[in-house]
Amino acid sequence: MKLLQVNNLRTTFHIEAGQVQAVRGISFHVEKGESVGIVGESGSGKSVSMLSIMRLLPDNASIEADRLLFDGTEIMDMDHTQMRRLHGNDIGMIFQDPMTSLNPLFTIGDQLMEPIRIHLKLSKAEAKKKAIEVLKMVEIPSPETRLNQYPHEFSGGMRQRVMIAIAISCNPKLLIADEPTTALDVTIQAQILDLMRDLKKKSNTSIVLITHDLGVVASMCSRIIVMYGGQIVEEGTTREVFYNPQHPYTWGLIRSMPKVSEGEKKKLIPIPGSPPDLLAPPQGCAFAARCEHAMKVCTKYSPVSISLSESHRAACWLMHPKAAKAEREVIGS
Ligand code: SF4
Ligand code: MG
Repeated sequence: MKLLQVNNLRTTFHIEAGQVQAVRGISFHVEKGESVGIVGESGSGKSVSMLSIMRLLPDNASIEADRLLFDGTEIMDMDHTQMRRLHGNDIGMIFQDPMTSLNPLFTIGDQLMEPIRIHLKLSKAEAKKKAIEVLKMVEIPSPETRLNQYPHEFSGGMRQRVMIAIAISCNPKLLIADEPTTALDVTIQAQILDLMRDLKKKSNTSIVLITHDLGVVASMCSRIIVMYGGQIVEEGTTREVFYNPQHPYTWGLIRSMPKVSEGEKKKLIPIPGSPPDLLAPPQGCAFAARCEHAMKVCTKYSPVSISLSESHRAACWLMHPKAAKAEREVIGS
C-alpha cells in the first residue's frame, strides 16, 4: 500500500534574480511501513521536495504536481483542517538542528504536551502521561524530572531525542527526518540511528530519511533515492544502489564515503566541481559539467530514466541503448 505518491513535482522559488527551479519534475512513492532514504549534496532539492509535500514553503515558492497523494488524499486539494491534521498527526518531522526547532523559553514538557493535547485531544494529566511515555521510548532517563527542564539543560544528542519524541508523540504515519544526525558527533549519531531503527521496528511508521551521507541510509533504509540538481538521477533498493550503482553521480557519492579499513581512515575522494545553478539549469544532463564520462549528447539532451529492474532506475546516457547513435547525430550536426 502506498502511503505517499508523488508524480512530477516541480517547485520554483521566485526571487529578484529570476526563478530558481529547486525541484524539477520528480516522481517517487513511499510504501506503508517502509523507510526510504533521499540522498544528495546540499542544494540537490532533497529538503525542498519534502517541504513542498508538507506545503511548508515560503510565499515566494510555487508548487506544481500531477499528483501528490498522502494516504489516498490529494494534498494539493486539502483544506485548512486536513492540512492541520497532516502536520500535527499524520506526518512528524525531525530537523538537523534541534536547538533551533525547540523554543528556549518553554520547558520540554510544555513543548511536548502541547501538540499531544491539541491533536490527540487529551486532558492535561493524560497528556503528561503520554509525554513521559514517549520520553521513555526515546530513552531519556528520569523523564518526570526532565519534563520540567529547558532545552539548554539538554545535550545535543538528548535534544535530538526530544525532537524525535515530539515527532512521534502523535503516532504519525510518516516520519520525515532531515539530516537528523548531521550536527551530532559520531558516537551520538550511531545512538540516534539505533533509536530510530528501534522505533521503526516497534511501530509501522514509514520513514523518509534525508541525508548527504550514503552510509546512514544504508544502515536505515530499504530503498534509496539519489537526487542531483533538483531531479532524481537514480532510485533502487539499498542493495541495488550500493552493489549495482548505475549513475556516475552515485559512483561519486559511494567513492566519497568514509571507509574504515583495519582501524585506519582512508582519504575521502570528494566529487570535484559544484552543483548546477538552478536559476539557469544547464541544457542536457545536470551532472555533465562534473562527469568524467560526459559525451557530447549529454550536454545537449537530458537523459531519460531507464529501468533496470522493477525497483531500480537511473537517468544517464551511458545506459541508453541508442546512446552511440544519439552521440553520432550530435557530433555530426
Ligand atoms: Fe555523465 Fe552523461 Fe550520464 Fe550525465 S548523462 S551522468 S553527463 S554520462
Ligand atoms: Mg537540506
